[in-house]
Amino acid sequence: MQERSFLDERLRIIEENYKVIKANIEKAALSVNRNPDEIRLMAVTKTVEPIYIKHAINLGIDLIGENRVQEYLSKEEEIMKNEKKPEVHIIGHLQTNKVSKIIDKVDMIESLDSVKLAKEISKRAVKAGVTMPVLVEVNIGREESKTGFDPDEVIDGIYEIAELEGIKIKGLMCIPPVCDSEKEAMAYFDAISKLFIDIKDKKIDNVDMQILSAGMSQDYEAAIKCGSNLVRIGSALFGARIY
Ligand SMILES: *Cc1c(COP(=O)(O)O)cnc(C)c1O
Repeated sequence: MQERSFLDERLRIIEENYKVIKANIEKAALSVNRNPDEIRLMAVTKTVEPIYIKHAINLGIDLIGENRVQEYLSKEEEIMKNEKKPEVHIIGHLQTNKVSKIIDKVDMIESLDSVKLAKEISKRAVKAGVTMPVLVEVNIGREESKTGFDPDEVIDGIYEIAELEGIKIKGLMCIPPVCDSEKEAMAYFDAISKLFIDIKDKKIDNVDMQILSAGMSQDYEAAIKCGSNLVRIGSALFGARIY
C-alpha cells in the first residue's frame, strides 16, 4: 500500500510538472514572438526508471535523452515495450569503445565532442549500414571541466567531420556554466545561437544545421528566448536526482 501510493504520487507529480514545463515553453517562445511548436521538449531520463519514462511518453513526450550507454541499454527493452515509442538521443560524453554498442539503437548523438569520436562513429555507422545524425557539442563557457569543441575551433572541426561518411551534422548542442541570473545565462545562449547561424550561413556540404539543443531545467526559458529549438529537461520533469 505504501509502495503503491508513492508510485501514484510520483506519476501525478510528473504529469503536473509536464504541464508546467509545456506552459513555460509556450510563454518563453511567445515572449520573443516565436512559434512554441518550433521548440522540442526532450525528457532527460538518466537515473529514471522505465515506469516513469513510459508515463512521460504517454503524456506526450516523444524524445528521450540518456547519458550513459550501459544505462540506456539496460532500460531499452522495457521502454520500447510501450505502445508509443520515443526517439532516443545520447547526450552524455561518449567513449569511443561504446559507439558500436549503440550505433543502430539510437536516433542521434548530441554529444559529439571531438573529431576522434566522429571518426569512430563514421567507421561504425558505415559498417552497420546507417547514417548517424549528430549534434556538435560546443564548450560555450570554455570550462576545463567540460568536454566539447572550443567555440574558436568548432568551425574547423565541422569542416573536418563533414567529410566523413556515415555521419550527418544536424546542429549544435551546449551545456553552459551554471549561472546566477537569466541575464548571465542568456549571454552564453546568445553566443551559441550566433555560432549556429554563422555555421548555417556557410552552407557547408553534408551539414544540415537545423537543431540548436540548449537549455535544461534551470535555464530552458532563457535558452528559448535566445533561439534554442530543443530543450533537455530532467529534474524539472521527474524530480531531483538523488543519486
Ligand atoms: C542531466 C542532463 C540534462 C538535464 O539536466 P536537468 O538539470 O536535470 O534538467 C540535460 N543535458 C545533459 C547533457 C545532461 O547531462
